[in-house]
Amino acid sequence: MSDRPVLIAGNWKMNGSLAAADAFAFQLGEHLAKTRAAAELLVCPPATLLQRLGERLRPLKVGLGAQDCHAKPSGAFTGDIAAPMLAELGCRYVIVGHSERRQFHKEDDATVRAKAEAALAAGLTPIVCVGETEAQRESGQAESVVGGQLDGSLPASGTVVVAYEPVWAIGTGKNATQADIAQMHGFLRRKLGAPGAATRLLYGGSVKPSNAAEILATGDVDGVLVGGASLAAEDFWAIAAASPAR
Ligand code: PEP
Repeated sequence: MSDRPVLIAGNWKMNGSLAAADAFAFQLGEHLAKTRAAAELLVCPPATLLQRLGERLRPLKVGLGAQDCHAKPSGAFTGDIAAPMLAELGCRYVIVGHSERRQFHKEDDATVRAKAEAALAAGLTPIVCVGETEAQRESGQAESVVGGQLDGSLPASGTVVVAYEPVWAIGTGKNATQADIAQMHGFLRRKLGAPGAATRLLYGGSVKPSNAAEILATGDVDGVLVGGASLAAEDFWAIAAASPAR
């Protein structure tokens, strides 16, 4: 087995209901009853659905992840959720530093790193997101911005997944070209040094069934982080089915 099995991760963002979670798990289960997934599958629903979706996904051997965690294990932080709480619910992963958290919640690299460290301390694997804006890409700063985010957001040690998500490609229907993805993922792999050989690098940004095979076949891509298209079980399955066997 590869050191870097392909990971297909869904990020539901602030979407979904109990009924939608049940329907999603039922439909995904129908596919998995007929065909074994070639990749590791993971769904990150909003916190309100973690318990319910986790119960439905467990028998399917589909992983459960959260979309954020606090840097502290407990305390007076109204509205926040600590990493050990997520672990207790059965989460194995947590997304940290998604561009929507960086943008709308003003999270900086130090905050993202603290959250990633809290995740590791709770036994979770952080999915650390990095990505440049359109203006940064157009001014030739994509690698320096993403490299800086990587330097500032990664914990000193521990197993992490890194998701490269160009901000301009998230939820816009515009995905990066295969050449741009290969270049950035190669840059990230080199920058990670020796641990990079075992670190999975996901691409995220308008991944859908029609472009998944091409993206997943790109050099240094070990999976995808899927937003909108992960809400429909049929699309999520079609993306999973496009995974190369490793
Ligand atoms: C995301 O939210 O991480 C994402 C990549 O969204 P979308 O697939 O909708 O662009």
